[in-house]
Amino acid sequence: CGIVGYVGSASVRRDGERSALDVVIEGLRRLEYRGYDSAGVAVLSEGAVESRKKAGKLANLVAELEERPLPESLTGIGHTRWATHGGPTDANAHPHLADKGRLAVIHNGIIENYASLKQGLVAKGVEFISETDTEVAAALIGDLFRGEADGDITKAMQLAAQRLEGAFTLLAVHADQPGVVVAARRNSPLVVGLGDGENFLGSDVSGFIDYTRRAVELGQDQIVTITPDSFEVTDFFGKPAQGKEFEVSWDA
Ligand code: GLU
Repeated sequence: CGIVGYVGSASVRRDGERSALDVVIEGLRRLEYRGYDSAGVAVLSEGAVESRKKAGKLANLVAELEERPLPESLTGIGHTRWATHGGPTDANAHPHLADKGRLAVIHNGIIENYASLKQGLVAKGVEFISETDTEVAAALIGDLFRGEADGDITKAMQLAAQRLEGAFTLLAVHADQPGVVVAARRNSPLVVGLGDGENFLGSDVSGFIDYTRRAVELGQDQIVTITPDSFEVTDFFGKPAQGKEFEVSWDA
């Protein structure tokens, strides 16, 4: 339901005193008005993905984070879920992990062809631990990352998006590529927030309104890859594309 992504650089961290986790949690708070039943986050730290997720209010996730803190990080993603496939449980909350826990994925929307994709992945030996359509998308991206995409998370997202049907805003981070968040969108909104030495993603601008007013709205069937000082938009086949740049004018 609500999506936030963040990549920052060490200099921003020094000046602004902010960590990926703070930015992501604050963004999720801003998106709470949309309604949700679970919340979760993942960060990249020292070559690994670490995630926490909880059914119920954001406060449950925050309590979990106090009990089991995450390491400092400059790259993170966060999600508030409105369950469509699988009940509102901790296991069904996002992020969903794949590629032996090295890939984390969050998703808004519905993957309509998840059942047939799941069959194919189960036949390849992939094991699933949730009832969600999202975990199938995560496993597909992970499978493509190891195969055809040759260890490139943007390429893996493009190839996956070509195969997915339905409505999705998908965000992925991979432990092999710290400082990168990749996202895809079809029939579901996605906005990039442009900072100085840091960049943001949100299902709407409230996800990053505290940090920047410069935004780029992604078009239908587009992929974006953000790093602390770049953003690159393509279509699902890797052809360069452009979003629509605008200034957020309303008072938050
Ligand atoms: N279909 C996904 C799920 O049930 C995502 C729902 C959402 O948009 O939050 O987990």
